[in-house]
Amino acid sequence: MSATGPAGLRNGSLRRECIMAKIELPHPGHDKHLCYLNNLGFQISNPEEYKQLVRDGKFMCKICGRVAANEKNLCKPVSL
Ligand SMILES: [Zn+2]
Ligand SMILES: [Zn+2]
Repeated sequence: MSATGPAGLRNGSLRRECIMAKIELPHPGHDKHLCYLNNLGFQISNPEEYKQLVRDGKFMCKICGRVAANEKNLCKPVSL
């Protein structure tokens, strides 16, 4: 098998579909929701950033009860 030239790929090179998509998001933007971040342990790995999200919380998640300053950080925000 001598790899001479870049044009030697005939088959078998097109299957790296969704190896990286382990985590399925239930809705768009969920990767920014506290519900999700909390699950990842974001509050443990980035406590300062997490604090900024919950500080002066004005919205509560109707699903899990978490509080955030910005409604875009919750799945089902309801204002407090
Ligand atoms: Zn939630
Ligand atoms: Zn969500």
